[in-house]
Amino acid sequence: MTTPTIELKPSANPLSDAERQAILANPGFGRHFTDHMVTIKWTEGRGWHDGQLVPYAPLSLDPATMVLHYAQEIFEGLKAYRGPDGSVATFRPEKNGRRFQASSRRLGMPELPVETFIEACDALVRQDQDWVPAHGGEESLYLRPFMIATEVGLGVKPAGEYLFLVIASPAGAYFPGGVKPVSIWVSEDRVRAVPGGMGDAKTGGNYAASLLAQAEAAAKGCDQVCYLDAVEHQWVEELGGMNLYFVYGDKIVTPSLTGSILEGVTRDSLLTVARDLGYEAEEGRVSVEQWQRDSENGTLTEVFACGTAAVITPVGTVKRAGAEWQQSGGEPGEVTQRLRTALLDIQRGKAEDKHGWMHRL
Ligand code: PMP
Repeated sequence: MTTPTIELKPSANPLSDAERQAILANPGFGRHFTDHMVTIKWTEGRGWHDGQLVPYAPLSLDPATMVLHYAQEIFEGLKAYRGPDGSVATFRPEKNGRRFQASSRRLGMPELPVETFIEACDALVRQDQDWVPAHGGEESLYLRPFMIATEVGLGVKPAGEYLFLVIASPAGAYFPGGVKPVSIWVSEDRVRAVPGGMGDAKTGGNYAASLLAQAEAAAKGCDQVCYLDAVEHQWVEELGGMNLYFVYGDKIVTPSLTGSILEGVTRDSLLTVARDLGYEAEEGRVSVEQWQRDSENGTLTEVFACGTAAVITPVGTVKRAGAEWQQSGGEPGEVTQRLRTALLDIQRGKAEDKHGWMHRL
């Protein structure tokens, strides 16, 4: 595999300090983008080439570009944080790089070497480091590496040309007014992914497939959809964009990786953080019946969702066809809060990084 170098073509017209500061004062999520982006091409027979760090700009695509028709597209999401000493670090980028390779394999796309994936993220963050919010709060710079099929033509086949890009967007605190539980609609008819499908790949099609169920959840007054397995319609899988954990006193359980669940970096990190804090942490199976029963009889003490965007989100109200219950009285539970603080402290450089997860630039 070829590993291209990334050539810098700096923006002639970056935002002024005052314009950038105005955005960083209230960034929201995914609304504003930094001054640059990384692009790397792949061509059959030639491999990866033309790595560039260029001004952020629209892409020009032929209407017959394959990604627009057959959705051969994959993406990643990770964050850069500023530490107390002003330095900048990303969290476990090699995990995202490996997941990006796994997604590539599933969609018949070329694999970007993990070191190139990390170098591309580093190059962008280094160039646009003024966009990484100041230390202190829960703000960060969200990185979005992605790859699209750029060959032009309407035959259904793996494309012979691809474009890999990284863009970055400042992200505000997920819960500016304090941590609030999410409400969940458990969908017993619509599924997100099937055995043998591509649920464990991070590809746009999985998110397109989730939009109708998400609209149905909103119509029922819920924030998020919880998907069940596609065969028996009883085993809890994950939310549309977050993994789930069930807390039984001092033991936490997350659904096993069956192939139809995305392997979250946060999910994986929490198995370790929880063990470090003395909890028992395991992967297993939880049915929706068990969830409702154990929640009602009090043995299931807390439920939380986890992912890069919110880190950890407590689950409050849960609804399914014909039933509704409140988890932990609708308040964030103690274990949830403790794990959230422990992981945030590592990411923000406030706690010892004993597993070597922070990648300093
Ligand atoms: N599941 C899905 C479907 C997701 O989109 C995400 C977000 N990437 C997650 C779980 C959580 O993954 P991570 O912790 O790597 O953000």
